[in-house]
Amino acid sequence: MERHYDPWLVGLSLLVAAVAGYVALDLAGRVNVARGAARRLWIGAGALAMGTGIWSMHFIGMLAFRLRDRGAALPMTYDVPHLVLSVLVAVAASFLALAVAGRERLPAVRLAAASVAMGAAIAGMHYIGMAGLRVSSRLHHDPPRVAASLAIAVAASSAALWLAYRLRAAEGASGMRRRGAAALLIGVAIAGMHYTAMSAARFGPAGGALAVPADAVLATQGLGWAVTGTTGLILALALAGTAVDRELRARLARAQEVQRLYAAADAARAEAERANRAKDDFLATMSHELRTPLNAILGYADLLDAGVAGDITEQQRAYLARVRVSGRYLLGLITDVLDFARIESGRAEYDVRAVHTGALARDVVQLLAPQFAARRLTLDVAVGDDAPSVCADRDKLARILVNLLSNAAKFTAPGGRVAIRATADDGTAALVVEDSGIGIPAGQLEAIFEPFVQVGRSLSNPGEGTGLGLAISRQLARGMGGELVAESAPGAGSRFTVLLPRADVG
Ligand code: ADP
Repeated sequence: MERHYDPWLVGLSLLVAAVAGYVALDLAGRVNVARGAARRLWIGAGALAMGTGIWSMHFIGMLAFRLRDRGAALPMTYDVPHLVLSVLVAVAASFLALAVAGRERLPAVRLAAASVAMGAAIAGMHYIGMAGLRVSSRLHHDPPRVAASLAIAVAASSAALWLAYRLRAAEGASGMRRRGAAALLIGVAIAGMHYTAMSAARFGPAGGALAVPADAVLATQGLGWAVTGTTGLILALALAGTAVDRELRARLARAQEVQRLYAAADAARAEAERANRAKDDFLATMSHELRTPLNAILGYADLLDAGVAGDITEQQRAYLARVRVSGRYLLGLITDVLDFARIESGRAEYDVRAVHTGALARDVVQLLAPQFAARRLTLDVAVGDDAPSVCADRDKLARILVNLLSNAAKFTAPGGRVAIRATADDGTAALVVEDSGIGIPAGQLEAIFEPFVQVGRSLSNPGEGTGLGLAISRQLARGMGGELVAESAPGAGSRFTVLLPRADVG
């Protein structure tokens, strides 16, 4: 009696074992993320697919096996009830495997118990299948080899369970690679158990002819292909199912993440609005609380100065003058600080419309004429009726020009010249204030736009002004979609240019 293995069917059984191993690992991952009814469904359907896979490997392996008597193959049949029972046992083993490996935790005791149960089930599947084999020869099993096959079944189950547990949460391409490697290992282990068990089978001399009973199938290569095809289909369906589940879950997770981000953004916006409101309230309160007593101080100083409360001496008058100057300075400072805070936080409102720079310059120059006269400065006004119109908030632009012109007056020695002129190109108009004053060192040209920066100012030498004028002016220019820039050469003078969008073109 010679034993023979069909190499094609052996190869197929190995392939099916590896694919079934991969599907098992993939299914364990799905069981791990699913909850409730979905989890039970995954275990149930998964056990069917995985059980079919394991059983097919085993059955194809049995079909690969042939006995030959003097060169002639002995016909073999398999008893269908035994086959059905062996399928059921394989499904039960898979059910156990998925339920255990898909859990959150896998303590050693549980792993050991599950490995023994699963190994016994797989060996059971095999020997039940063998019990269904009908061949005209007496079959018995070699006990040491049976024991070895049992040991391999338990060891293979334990390795498979542990791998499935470890890789249950592995996702993406690296998860697929690791699962693939583990599946090869599982495939080899399952096949190893099968072929060890087959080697335990001992066959006596050939008997008489064999009839194929109604409830049996004849072992043929064609049956092997058919089983492989069906199993392949079932395993492919299982893989498609896991892929769809994975994608759906990923989408759900992305949707939840987006929702969470929206909620966080809403919360941040609400918090920022709350903080802004608090700052508004604070500024309004400060403005009122500081200005009211200061106005009272200035008002009473005026009354005293006017002699309303009786005659005052010259010295008292001189002191009152200092009170009034300092009070006005403080009032200006408070106004500037509050304005700056409001502009800086982007809450200044701009009433932008077309402003004729010629008319505006005339008004501003009129306002400052006394200051220029007092310092004996010449003021050239080259902004006339033909000057361009700009898109601006008139009051805010006036404030910028007042600031630039009074700076020019402050920082130009008596007898010097100050000029204001307008230029325009296609889209932008420029208002230029030039002086022949002390100028600004190159290193300070940008710093002067910072709040509270004054060139050459020290605590021991406090000058006029607050150092906020240019900071406010630049913010205002930018708030109207324009810009404020400075050029200067120390000793030769300074040039400040306000750039704004033109209103009278296109
Ligand atoms: P303030 O005029 O209240 O000091 P500004 O922000 O308007 O504050 O100006 C900041 C500083 O820039 C001034 O203190 C001065 O040192 C310098 N500066 C501004 N304009 C001129 C100018 N036309 N010539 C020379 N220095 C100037």
